[in-house]
Amino acid sequence: MSALGVERAAWRRDGELLYSPTLTSLGVVAGSTTRALGSMGGSRTPVEDAVRARDALARSLGFPGVVRVKQVHGSEVVRADAPFAPPWPEADAVWTARAGVLLGIVAADCVPVLLAEVGGTRVGAAHAGWEGTTRHVARRLVEVLRPEGVDPARMVAALGPSIGPCCYAVGDERAATIRERLGAAGERALVVRDGTTSFDLWRANAEQLRDEGVARIEVSRVCTKCGGENTWSRRSGDIGLLNLAFIGIKAGGKPPAGRPR
Ligand SMILES: [Zn+2]
Repeated sequence: MSALGVERAAWRRDGELLYSPTLTSLGVVAGSTTRALGSMGGSRTPVEDAVRARDALARSLGFPGVVRVKQVHGSEVVRADAPFAPPWPEADAVWTARAGVLLGIVAADCVPVLLAEVGGTRVGAAHAGWEGTTRHVARRLVEVLRPEGVDPARMVAALGPSIGPCCYAVGDERAATIRERLGAAGERALVVRDGTTSFDLWRANAEQLRDEGVARIEVSRVCTKCGGENTWSRRSGDIGLLNLAFIGIKAGGKPPAGRPR
């Protein structure tokens, strides 16, 4: 991964949350919940419990609420100026230009991609499982931000806790789909060891961001299944239970500052 200019940085644990060290150092609120805070959505959690959990999280981070979208494993990108009222728009990436707006992506193995503009107020978040990754959702998020005047050379991205290549074996049919959709990048991200093929979602997403010119890309390398950080994982049997990755700039706070490269 180092050949890609990608940084490895363990996410910092603080109580029941994990934080991106790179984005935090820039003044952005960016991290993920763990099992300790309960499920932040999904079919096994009553809707009102998940709403309560997300609202409590937002308040504890200094935001009025969390923006949520209806994630459908696609590559649609939407802009949010405030949390959407239900029904949420169907999208797998969301961005905002407003401080005081906290974006949230739920996942339990899929990669949360968090993105911030150094020196500005724009932040974005994408949900990239194997489907979203092969549909280039991370790339789409950058493509949408660019005409808004966000220079990728001023963007910093972080890939949050998600299933690592250590634990993400895929069958032949899925591997064929990954190769078909991603071409050479798919080939690079498929790791064959002892007759088992694994999909390296971290590499595939980092490559998309790098190819779009994103200046700094941090990979937490916290595997949701074996990373030891108490995160929900479908591969551990946590079906319908979800972590929430979040990103936002506090209202009245300074725009993220620091070195873009
Ligand atoms: Zn693992």
